Amino acid sequence: MATIFTHEFNTPVYKGKTSFNTGLYINGKFVEGSDKTTIDVTNPATGKVIAKIAEATAKDVDIAVTAAHKAFETTWGLNAGGAERSRLLLKLALLMEEHQQELAAIEALDNGKTFTWAMDLDTTFAIDTIRYYAGWADKIHGQVQETDEKKLSYTRHEPIGVVGQIIPWNFPLLMMSWKLGPALATGNCVVLKPSEFTPLTAIRMCELIDRAGFPAGTVNLVTGYGNTVGAAISSHMKIDKVAFTGSTLVGRKIMEAAAKSNLKDITLELGGKSPNIIFNDADLEQAVNWAAHGIYWNHGQACSAGSRIFVQSGIYDEFLEKFTEKSRSLKVGDPFDVDSYQGPQVSKNQYDRIMDYIQSGKDQGATVHLGGDRNGTEGYYINPTIFTNTTPDMKIVQEEIFGPVGVVIKFEDEDDVIRQANDTVFGLAAAVFSQNINRALNTAHRLKAGTAWVNCVNQLHANVPFGGFKQSGIGRELGEYALHNYTAVKSVQVNLGHVM
Ligand code: NAD
Repeated sequence: MATIFTHEFNTPVYKGKTSFNTGLYINGKFVEGSDKTTIDVTNPATGKVIAKIAEATAKDVDIAVTAAHKAFETTWGLNAGGAERSRLLLKLALLMEEHQQELAAIEALDNGKTFTWAMDLDTTFAIDTIRYYAGWADKIHGQVQETDEKKLSYTRHEPIGVVGQIIPWNFPLLMMSWKLGPALATGNCVVLKPSEFTPLTAIRMCELIDRAGFPAGTVNLVTGYGNTVGAAISSHMKIDKVAFTGSTLVGRKIMEAAAKSNLKDITLELGGKSPNIIFNDADLEQAVNWAAHGIYWNHGQACSAGSRIFVQSGIYDEFLEKFTEKSRSLKVGDPFDVDSYQGPQVSKNQYDRIMDYIQSGKDQGATVHLGGDRNGTEGYYINPTIFTNTTPDMKIVQEEIFGPVGVVIKFEDEDDVIRQANDTVFGLAAAVFSQNINRALNTAHRLKAGTAWVNCVNQLHANVPFGGFKQSGIGRELGEYALHNYTAVKSVQVNLGHVM
């Protein structure tokens, strides 16, 4: 039965209480799932169950889709003007701001990321994103095409309709805002599924969406498992588009389900194995600091994580020494401790998966230069880990580990490193460190990646597009580009006197 989740935070960084309904949010109401079953939500810092939330099924997806269609035809879609959509999104951003500490605390509790990062990045960026798309809502314009004097031709960028959105556990609130912002700004109705591992901020957000005054059915939340609810969304005949962020493996399934059902439009934001290239002429201290941020940020659970660190031979030894020192200095610990940089991995599954990769690195002959082991006895903490002496065919070099595990690889020259960096099925992001502007930009241009950072890593902004080349995805999120994912272009041709 859907109940109220209440939690009292009495931590050094945040004191406060949260309390919210744990039901599905469908047609403007919190309800139980049709089967009245629940999902256990675990605190990764302790491994203990902290909440039970309603579990949706395919039947609930049907109910949510019906509600979304009704809203689209009556109160949202082309029935709500841009100014109104903007007003509601701005109101939502304000409510998120009002509850920012609470949202950050829930995120830290549910996901294991530190409260400090959840405040400074996740919640701040989520609010920025909603506000950014509020700004776009009344600026969705088509074009006029010149044909001949007896015709008027123009385009309308109409909302697609009901869109399904499936998000992962690594940035739960942030991914929700990346999805909701452009979808709502352009007038679509949404059926969203958060990860079964981290559903709490999404549920809390629905209360804020409700308070902001979005019409019932505009946003619907179906908390459930991937192979039931996720599969029902991606194969639904009345969902017109699906936007997915998650693994490449599941992205493939989504694409297949879309093709086999109603050929729905898709955008996919998938995995990565991002190269981070450090030339002899880089500012070494800065390169070390950014490289550490690149791989250990969010405990390595970032799609853009700079997990392959290529260092030119002239500075390799010095870099490795300083990078090791930096890695050792990062405090792994309680997400609510102000000194913690890295909290626990999100789940037992993820912890086991990372430890299996570490074992495979050892088995395939790589050297564990640092870490490679568990931190503490409770929860899912893993120490920052560096591998050296790798070969290109090793699993730890080719596959996305999604944990605090980096490989440091020596290279000789530009051609050599670009060949190695591009030797991957992924193409999400890449970084290059050099004080020589020509070298830095030439390298950035030759890397096959949707984002190339120069002398920094993991920089994301609401107005800068983000997405992958190759098997890292299809389409772009954020910025003006994301609006194209959520509009259908209609050409209207008017006869001004062409007589047949
Ligand atoms: P995942 O693919 O296992 O799950 C993502 C979502 O898909 C979850 O909500 C899950 O329940 C759902 N799902 C699982 N099976 C499904 C199915 N058969 N049909 C439909 N939905 C299904 O990924 P994850 O472990 O939650 O997240 C980690 C992955 O996400 C990593 O690979 C990471 O690189 C990727 N990611 C990418 C980006 C990006 O912008 N490119 C951002 C964040 C995470």
